[in-house]
Amino acid sequence: MTNTETMTTEVVVVGSGPGGAAVARKLSAAGRRVLILEWGDDNPPEPGLFPNPTRYFGGLRLMKHSIMKTSSAPVMKMVRGLTTGGSTMMYAGVCEEAPPEKFAAHGIDLDDEIRAIKKDIVIRPLADEQLGEKARMLAQSARQLGLPWKNCDRFFLDPAKFRQGSLFMGDRTGARWDARRWVLDAVGHGATLLNGTRCEKVLIEQNRAIGVQAVDRNKGALRIQADTVVLAAGGIGSPQILRNSGLAEAGQSLCNDPYLIAFGYVGKDRRLSGRGESNRQAGVLLDGGVTLADATVPGMVYMQMLKEQGIRGRMFAGRQALSLLVEIADDSDGSLDAEGGICKHLTARDLEKLEYGKRVARDILQHAGARDIWFSRIAAVHPAGTCRIGEIVDADLKTRFDNVYVADASVLPESLAVPPVLTILALGGRLAGHLLRTGQG
Ligand SMILES: Cc1cc2nc3c(=O)[nH]c(=O)nc-3n(C[C@H](O)[C@H](O)[C@H](O)COP(=O)(O)OP(=O)(O)OC[C@H]3O[C@@H](n4cnc5c(N)ncnc54)[C@H](O)[C@@H]3O)c2cc1C
Repeated sequence: MTNTETMTTEVVVVGSGPGGAAVARKLSAAGRRVLILEWGDDNPPEPGLFPNPTRYFGGLRLMKHSIMKTSSAPVMKMVRGLTTGGSTMMYAGVCEEAPPEKFAAHGIDLDDEIRAIKKDIVIRPLADEQLGEKARMLAQSARQLGLPWKNCDRFFLDPAKFRQGSLFMGDRTGARWDARRWVLDAVGHGATLLNGTRCEKVLIEQNRAIGVQAVDRNKGALRIQADTVVLAAGGIGSPQILRNSGLAEAGQSLCNDPYLIAFGYVGKDRRLSGRGESNRQAGVLLDGGVTLADATVPGMVYMQMLKEQGIRGRMFAGRQALSLLVEIADDSDGSLDAEGGICKHLTARDLEKLEYGKRVARDILQHAGARDIWFSRIAAVHPAGTCRIGEIVDADLKTRFDNVYVADASVLPESLAVPPVLTILALGGRLAGHLLRTGQG
């Protein structure tokens, strides 16, 4: 018989992405005893030329859980971070405010939280002269075509340290803010962070949580007794835990902001900036929720995309390639299946949006002088909506269990049409405030 170690805390927070980090930081700053369970390891950003981004995928041990594929056509690759800080350890750092009406419909106002975050984190766009050569060419082309192309706001820790290529797949410079910083703040306030620990389910007695059941990679089975449980395991993780805990209806209504990359090539005589540029430096959100922005993919990913689409003769043409992101706000038409697989159809409306985005991308690339345009397969990095407000949680982010809450991308009522981190931080901060006010935190 194996021994189960038991620990006790006031609040257990499951997951340390932006949702979990925001809750843990605010509660621990107010003196609450907080325990953070994180499935992945803690991976501080590495300096040096060749950082190893697989660490953020949970290493070889967890990679099959972080690089996933949908089980429905068209097959979409979906990626998430399994590490302290969650997916923000590999994000582009773009900061956008969601349309307030998406939350007003549920009686939620995030204005105060967003104002507080903007005081706490340096948020600003790159200046025109900081844009990389390729991003500048695309911005110029889009603006000449009359598109309101703007430099994207981004989360900075120290903007003075910014250099091109540094804001993606792990920041080697210390320029970019990520959620791990707030997890470390929480630990500084006295919170305990347990890495390598996967929460399996919430332990429920008479509709109340008495804690959670987890597995620590080294110690084995763990039982955490807690007064309050906050799930922040992300758009895939939180519904899985709720299902294991008896809430079978979690895991529906998945949206994931599907995207593709459009590539085109300037003439062989041109040699554009050699170093990888940062991702999504400037772009536009068109009506209906179609985003276009400059996009740079790591070399390995470029090779893979060429192979998938059967494009020949372009392997060494990176210096001539211009590339654009086409991302859409999709319908909430996906779900998790019983085995944890992801089913995500694209509706007729989604496909129309993608076609529209491809047409605009083609115009921008051609106007910038690019030819031989092709499009990558569809992928996604924003899984959300699987515990959405109004269905699985109420406006206070409470589930139907008395003391079990959710604070992450899974509660988003629909696709936000913008990158979600700012909104998730605001929802986490708002939940922590609610718990403190009601004496639960
Ligand atoms: C490549 C990439 C680029 C992106 N760029 C941007 C961008 O520029 N701007 C933006 O706003 N958004 C961006 N995003 C999206 C953004 O990072 C995510 O939407 C956001 O991090 C989701 O936050 P979350 O708190 O819901 O969950 P996550 O960040 O996914 O964190 C959840 C955490 O929970 C842990 N976990 C999961 N299951 C369990 C379990 N059972 N037990 C314990 N722990 C568990 C995971 O290991 C993870 O650390 C990007 C995402 C990716 C992948």
